[in-house]
Amino acid sequence: MDDELNPLAMARQQLDQVAERIHLEPDVHEKLKHCKRTLIVAVPTSMDDGSLRVFTGYRVHHNLARGPAKGGIRYHPGVSLDEVSALAMWMTWKCALMDIPFGGAKGGVICSPKEMSLRELERMTRRLTSEMMIILGPDKDIPAPDINTNAQTMAWILDTYSMNVGHSVPSVVTGKPVSVGGSRGREDATGRGCVCTMREALAHLGLPIAGARVAVQGFGNVGRATARLAQQAGARVVAVSDEWGGVYHPHGLDIDAVIRHDRQVGRVGGFAGSDAVTNAELLELECEVLIPAALGHQLTQANAGRVRARMVVEGANGPTTPAADQILNDRGIFLLPDILANAGGVTVSYFEWVQGLMEYFWTEEEVNERLERLLRQAFADVLRTSLQEKVPMRVAAYMLAVSRVAEATRIRGKYP
Ligand code: NAD
Repeated sequence: MDDELNPLAMARQQLDQVAERIHLEPDVHEKLKHCKRTLIVAVPTSMDDGSLRVFTGYRVHHNLARGPAKGGIRYHPGVSLDEVSALAMWMTWKCALMDIPFGGAKGGVICSPKEMSLRELERMTRRLTSEMMIILGPDKDIPAPDINTNAQTMAWILDTYSMNVGHSVPSVVTGKPVSVGGSRGREDATGRGCVCTMREALAHLGLPIAGARVAVQGFGNVGRATARLAQQAGARVVAVSDEWGGVYHPHGLDIDAVIRHDRQVGRVGGFAGSDAVTNAELLELECEVLIPAALGHQLTQANAGRVRARMVVEGANGPTTPAADQILNDRGIFLLPDILANAGGVTVSYFEWVQGLMEYFWTEEEVNERLERLLRQAFADVLRTSLQEKVPMRVAAYMLAVSRVAEATRIRGKYP
């Protein structure tokens, strides 16, 4: 794979760039470049036609100096060990930036979930869980949803883990349904975080949110909530898309109506009164805010020069390659990095874990209020560092996050 598109090479490049600035000692730098632990499992799964398929699953822990491992599990044909490792590293930085007591992890299974039945997905998830049990646990490693996994997937993981240990352990996962100990507000949390940080950034740039044109790539858990909450905040969501393409209206789409249409036909395409756009076209639309909220490496050196947004908000993990980052920065486009913009999800996952351990649950208003408070604080810290050090927001966010992880790594010392 071309190095620009290799996620692990990209994650390491981002770390190297910051290591110099914060004068990271070579030993700590070397340690942070590597993932602490990688589990590769075979997941034999009975298919509905009676055949057996063996899927490959990964679970990677990057750094646990600040707390137990935390990170999503994704199901996608494009999953690779390098991708999961990079995502685990980004989770370490994200948790540190939000100052929540977790280390970074990620998991994935190479599969095509859209071609599998619900029963096949359940059997695969349950077997995956039992293969991963040796590293899972509420004080060891707590998975959450990611691409093509959701609250139902988390409920299967919770149930399988609990059946194996002989008692119910809701805190082994977050992003689970409220009926089995999930947190109110978790489903919208990542989108709420994108909109909250976008609002702060627009205010910093002196741009009103009312009427701001927003284009969102991806209409899953993150993209859908982001589009809906951006519209509620007064923005004009001019385009949304999914893997089959997008829809556009210069005066703004009615997002609730797009959600209903998507539920009926399974895609946003064909929404009445809109024009079709491709995903490539959506990324280059003239707008105030572009929000890639689907897959990684969508903005590359090939298209970054044609982005016409005033600001990019990274709803997805790793949507911008370092080469594209440089181009966007040179062109004066303000970028809210993934470890800040999409940190709302892991923050409410943390709240869910805390509520589960206390067995005391908060109202949705309490969850949202605490979330927005932490995000506004993180945004202000990153912006201050960015202005003081005269560096882009991503570099500033990394400087804060890597320094915190380095400090914990340093103070715990080297074992043995
Ligand atoms: P999801 O599976 O719910 O939705 C993914 C969306 O992206 C779908 O609409 C899908 O059709 C679309 N998509 C897939 N391939 C595409 C392509 N090639 N071009 C355009 N669109 C495409 O996943 P999600 O949970 O919304 O996650 C989206 C991104 O946000 C991922 O990068 C994930 O790591 C990141 N993220 C998710 C969370 C969370 O809480 N779910 C938290 C932080 C970050």
